[in-house]
Amino acid sequence: MKSTIRKSTFMAMYRLLDRVSPVDFDCGKLCGCACCVPERSEYTDDLGIYLLPGEEKIFTGNEDWITWNYDYAEDYEFPDSWSGKVWFLSCNTPPVCDRKKRPLQCRTYPVAPHILQFDSDRKSDHASASSDTDLTHGNDEKLILILSDLAAPYSCPLIEAGENNSNYQDAGSMLILNEQFLKATFTVWSRLIKDPLIHDLVQMDSEDRDFFIPVYPYNSPDDIF
Ligand code: SF4
Ligand code: SF4
Repeated sequence: MKSTIRKSTFMAMYRLLDRVSPVDFDCGKLCGCACCVPERSEYTDDLGIYLLPGEEKIFTGNEDWITWNYDYAEDYEFPDSWSGKVWFLSCNTPPVCDRKKRPLQCRTYPVAPHILQFDSDRKSDHASASSDTDLTHGNDEKLILILSDLAAPYSCPLIEAGENNSNYQDAGSMLILNEQFLKATFTVWSRLIKDPLIHDLVQMDSEDRDFFIPVYPYNSPDDIF
């Protein structure tokens, strides 16, 4: 698949995310690094990480901590605009890996991008509201970060904490998710969705969601919906 994002841009994103962490402590101690080393289950043979289109440019293919596989986009539920190989990495020595080369999906978990769609009236409301979190992308959509709802055979304590918070407006602060992490992750996803293939993936996932817990930016729900 043809990515519009250069290797140097992916590397800049990796560097930015190298400097931040989801929380101000080692959350792996809460769960035994469950997102790297899930409890053994019938699903674990299939566990791994999909790279985003073009992200493979970061790797040499000789990393000994990775086993490379791929699926064909046409065979799985990827956007219609995708075709051909989608790279899928399995970690050979989790949770130990080359921290500088952790894929984006590892770096931005436990949050995920979500695209809100607006009708044209709402769009004009947002166009007239100026702030340093002007999140409008394209004509009628807005990117936010939500708690990841990735189906996984493990529980993330950070996500559980957010889900147990009835007032999702405060989910970000209640989770004590690090603000620099959220800002950097938002910056990265804002750039990533400028790539048409990645945009289509985020849009497809967003349209499939009936429910989500927003965590960034710290707008009130009225501002978001
Ligand atoms: S992100 Fe969640 S599942 Fe992963 S190490 Fe931190 S608390 Fe555990
Ligand atoms: S690449 Fe590293 S951080 Fe990501 S799942 Fe594998 S061991 Fe965990």
